[in-house]
Amino acid sequence: MDQPLLELRNVSREFKVGGGLGLFSRRIIKAVDAVSFSMPSKPWITALIGESGSGKTTIARMILGLLPPTSGEILYRGRKVSEWIKKNKMEYYREVQPIFQDPYSIYNPFYRVDRVLEIAIKKFKLASSREEARGLIIKAMEDIGLRPEDLLGRYPHQLSGGERQRFMLTRILLIKPRLIVADEPISMIDVSLRAIFLDHLLSFKEKHGISCLYISHDLHTASYLADNIVILCYGRIVEEGPKNHVIEDPLHPYTKLLISSIPIPDPKRRWIDKIDLRSVESLRKFRMEKGCVFSARCPYVMEKCLSETPQLKSISLERKVACHLY
Ligand code: SF4
Repeated sequence: MDQPLLELRNVSREFKVGGGLGLFSRRIIKAVDAVSFSMPSKPWITALIGESGSGKTTIARMILGLLPPTSGEILYRGRKVSEWIKKNKMEYYREVQPIFQDPYSIYNPFYRVDRVLEIAIKKFKLASSREEARGLIIKAMEDIGLRPEDLLGRYPHQLSGGERQRFMLTRILLIKPRLIVADEPISMIDVSLRAIFLDHLLSFKEKHGISCLYISHDLHTASYLADNIVILCYGRIVEEGPKNHVIEDPLHPYTKLLISSIPIPDPKRRWIDKIDLRSVESLRKFRMEKGCVFSARCPYVMEKCLSETPQLKSISLERKVACHLY
């Protein structure tokens, strides 16, 4: 088997919270709990789907080397991320690039937006002269559908959220990494521009061989973009499989709940099932410390679910689920 591009092996991350009123008020929260999944070396898009508070941003930060795991290993091309960062940080970031939810935080408000691209060119030695750098910037902007004459020379606050995020795509196109870690990348983009943004991620994969870990709460966009889907609930993976299988035949009760919340564009049918986003939202209040993390909300809960944590196991060649029903 090919060496995976990215591999998470039993990765957990704990945080200490509280403590303001004394030692005993401190508690440990497991934001990510024994997570394992991998992405193949061929160009590929994996969607990591979970509600807010499910641990997906913590996973992104660990892959990017911004936060160490409490236990477990994250390997990029067979080597631990911590080793990459220690030995050759620049090489790692040449290959693994983030796209964050809020592109504004990447920009320095006192500098023109061009600087974000110029710094990338300088840092990764992408051009040998100013003229060459300018040519690369203009070409990359045009490829993303931005008009250099309208945007270069402007300050971050003069750009819309969508323009700032597409500027980030321009930066990706200049660097041409092997993997993008995109954490809720379209949540601050106008709805009308979201499909264009996702099409760019698809064309990066198809034309430039750039893989993407697409992190989102939105199964709808994941079903458009991804090759496979990983479902996260309270820091644990509950289901994983090829996109079509997970969307058309969800196995885990939590995945079923998420899918029942996707609107169907058919005027004769209101929704597939009762939309209950509040109940999805309220899941956060019901995290179970023992047994299955979903047991407080699961319609199929059994006695065993309250005491035994279901492990993620293969139920066919490509599908995995963590539920005592299987
Ligand atoms: Fe429901 Fe039990 Fe499966 Fe958890 S393990 S999802 S509680 S049936």
